[in-house]
Amino acid sequence: MRLSDNEIVSLATANRQPVLPCFIIDPWFYNHPEVGKARVRFLFESLENLDQNLRQLGSQLYLLEGSSIDVLTKLTKYLLQQGQPPKLFFNRDVQVAYGIDRDRAILDLYHQLSLDYHLGLNNFLQIGDRNDAWRDQYYSYQRQPQHPSPTQINTPALDLPQITFAQLKQKYAQFWPPSSKFFVGGENSAMATLASFLKQRFYGYHWRLSRPCLAQQGATSHLSPHFVFGTISVRAVYQATKARVATLADQPKAQFALKAFRDRLRWRDSFTQRLYNQPEIAHTNLYREFDQWYSPAPLNPEQQSKFAAWQAGQTGFPLVDASMRQLQAMGWMNFRMRAMCATFLTVNCGISWHHGAKHYMNCLVDGDLAIDNWQWQMQAGIVNPLSETFRIYNPNKNIGDRDPDLKFLSYWVPELRGYSLAEIQAEAYRNHSPYLTAILNWSQTRKVNGKIISDLRKKVRQRLLSTKGEEYEQAAKAKATVDKYWEIKHQQYQEYRQISIEGLG
Ligand SMILES: Cc1cc2nc3c(=O)[nH]c(=O)nc-3n(C[C@H](O)[C@H](O)[C@H](O)COP(=O)(O)OP(=O)(O)OC[C@H]3O[C@@H](n4cnc5c(N)ncnc54)[C@H](O)[C@@H]3O)c2cc1C
Repeated sequence: MRLSDNEIVSLATANRQPVLPCFIIDPWFYNHPEVGKARVRFLFESLENLDQNLRQLGSQLYLLEGSSIDVLTKLTKYLLQQGQPPKLFFNRDVQVAYGIDRDRAILDLYHQLSLDYHLGLNNFLQIGDRNDAWRDQYYSYQRQPQHPSPTQINTPALDLPQITFAQLKQKYAQFWPPSSKFFVGGENSAMATLASFLKQRFYGYHWRLSRPCLAQQGATSHLSPHFVFGTISVRAVYQATKARVATLADQPKAQFALKAFRDRLRWRDSFTQRLYNQPEIAHTNLYREFDQWYSPAPLNPEQQSKFAAWQAGQTGFPLVDASMRQLQAMGWMNFRMRAMCATFLTVNCGISWHHGAKHYMNCLVDGDLAIDNWQWQMQAGIVNPLSETFRIYNPNKNIGDRDPDLKFLSYWVPELRGYSLAEIQAEAYRNHSPYLTAILNWSQTRKVNGKIISDLRKKVRQRLLSTKGEEYEQAAKAKATVDKYWEIKHQQYQEYRQISIEGLG
């Protein structure tokens, strides 16, 4: 979805050969239960922008429609008939089973026809045998020069059965709601988002990222859907961030903010790598001890009603409801609220992470299987069983910690406008406002379900410690990563405390 730092664009255009840039609108994408409107809209906007940018280089995007394999087979045969044997350049899918199978089928076709192809990658991924040098290889990739962008593209005019953008908008009108004011698709939008983040928005990133109201207003980068769709490369963002740091010589806190941001870019790619190495983690519990408790089986009527309340932002827990309404409207939440709502569903409601993860994938504009499903397992208490504790967020305490001025709550839960923080935390609005009664007893469900999950973690721990096999090694590595995370958090807290003390004079 981009022309800059894109391996296949650079290679295909390098020798000024005729190039046919094309994208296939495949019904799989918009029929898939985990793909919602926000992502389809973002995709369509990105395609439109790609076409505009190609036209500035003397080219255009050929929009084709149908099953990817059928369309590419026909297109390839058509070019052969025209006496123009093609070489196919594409960035492979490394996450979704459908995409992986599609790529294999296309490669088989090109082998059969003895045609050449180049298989590219959107971002860094370690292919082949797993080894421990991932981090070094990752950073050396991020520091390498970017793939050069084309200055001109020579595209032949071909009589292909294309679909125009006007037809696309009309035919798929249900997926093309008015443009979002929050996340606009396309490479130009990605560049503008990065520029505004690095200009000013990043200051205080490391502590502002957990405040839902500040995050909504742009305290975090808002680049996530751009990474998912590849409208910008992680490497371009990494390098622009390093260049910005070079201008902040006497501002250690600002440098620290950008370091915290860069760490997350690496986390992102490490999640992709993990899913590539262990594709099963997208759908199965990381440890089999959890299979009875967390399963994708259909929900019983009581669970269904809780799940529906959670989805609609009608649980009677103000911060959960605000966040779930934000998800519906924006297709986005900040990390802390995603985690809190996931814990609420899995631990307090006792509903498997499979259902929650699917709902997030359906609503998030940045839905990414690798991050989403792992994070859901994490928040459900499955990951990191070598640690004796796991986190259960208290939604009411989090109002005071993360939204003390109630700006986020008033924005998304207008029923509670006019109440003070103390009144909200004491639930003084009960019987006096149209706001709902809580669907469950938080302390009680935390105690009962929290104990069940703790016991399961203990079972896993005992098994891993008794065998100390590969699974143990992986769990130990994951624990080391989480420990490092908390070390950084602690460091951030000390720093923030220092800023507050300085602020108080
Ligand atoms: C239950 C749950 C589900 C999540 N699902 C997704 C998802 O489907 N897609 C997704 O992109 N992120 C997901 N996240 C991670 C995180 O919440 C989002 O990446 C972040 O909120 C996106 O906003 P931003 O671009 O402004 O982030 P920034 O804070 O600006 O971070 C920059 C980039 O780093 C990456 N990143 C940030 N935090 C994380 C993290 N914890 N783990 C891995 N990568 C991270 C993202 O690519 C992000 O765009 C999930 C988190 C949780 C707890």
